[in-house]
Amino acid sequence: MQTPIGEDPALIDLHLHSHYSDGSDPPARVVELAVAAGLTAIALTDHDTMSGLHEAKTRANELGLGFITGVELSCHTGSRNVHLLGYGIDPANSRFGELLLTQQAARSERNVLLAARLSELGLEIDLDEVVALAGPDSVGRPHFAAILMRCGHVSSIDEAFARYLGDGRPAFIERRELRAPDAIRSIHEAGGIASWAHPFPRRSAATDVSSIEGDLEELSDAGLDALEAWYGRYESDVRRRLRRLASRSGLLVTGGSDYHGTFKPDLHVGIGLGDLAVPDEVIDLIMSRRNRL
Ligand code: AMP
Ligand code: ZN
Ligand code: FE
Ligand code: FE
Repeated sequence: MQTPIGEDPALIDLHLHSHYSDGSDPPARVVELAVAAGLTAIALTDHDTMSGLHEAKTRANELGLGFITGVELSCHTGSRNVHLLGYGIDPANSRFGELLLTQQAARSERNVLLAARLSELGLEIDLDEVVALAGPDSVGRPHFAAILMRCGHVSSIDEAFARYLGDGRPAFIERRELRAPDAIRSIHEAGGIASWAHPFPRRSAATDVSSIEGDLEELSDAGLDALEAWYGRYESDVRRRLRRLASRSGLLVTGGSDYHGTFKPDLHVGIGLGDLAVPDEVIDLIMSRRNRL
């Protein structure tokens, strides 16, 4: 629907993390921040877990905020790691629950190797302390970064990634990951739709659409529904190019900040770095696509 002149458009945020994965806030607090930001609806999209959804939905209902279920799955295509957002999944779907447990087990295996590698590098940390900080479901590299900071080995999360934990750095450990086409199938089977989160790699200079076309074809063939074009960290020009690519490829567009609280202190709920604005009609579009599947 067009927004009448003079009225502010209704805005949403479909990419938010809570402390059930590598955000710092409880789900209810994320909901409260969304309401304070004037949003009309959100999705909570923790990495490889849906444990925060009940708490978030309960608080959203209390405050009159629209809410759809979400999750962010770590997967790989033939050529690289990708994150897939699933929206509208039934959290009670037991097969999808098993998939999440497999993802969490892959994290645990990686985390043991990661702690050992850090120790080889002279950075002694206690894995139990990392898990205590992260909670049981989704232990991620940002938690390792926080403990490296707590132990005085680095002075920021960014420094921990740049020196040790980032892809290709000395403490980077590959983990067993879900194939992206299988993830898309599982999302559909559980009643959801799949959006490719932040299609350009982190801090990559390559924001040319041709650099992702191969992966996009693989994901589209597997039934991908949407591209995340309105992403917190993308420049407006990159967002525009991704929207055009989505439209050419018959895909919907989704968007969100990728808020992580203190783990990504520059990103804010709803507005990302300050210039994000995701229109609320996105929700209707993705829910009607979901109902057509
Ligand atoms: P994991 O899922 O455990 O492999 O960790 C991935 C998380 O680390 C995601 O939330 C990323 O946004 C974050 N991350 C990846 N690379 C970096 C980086 N270079 N600096 C800060 N955070 C990063
Ligand atoms: Zn994260
Ligand atoms: Fe992600
Ligand atoms: Fe994310």
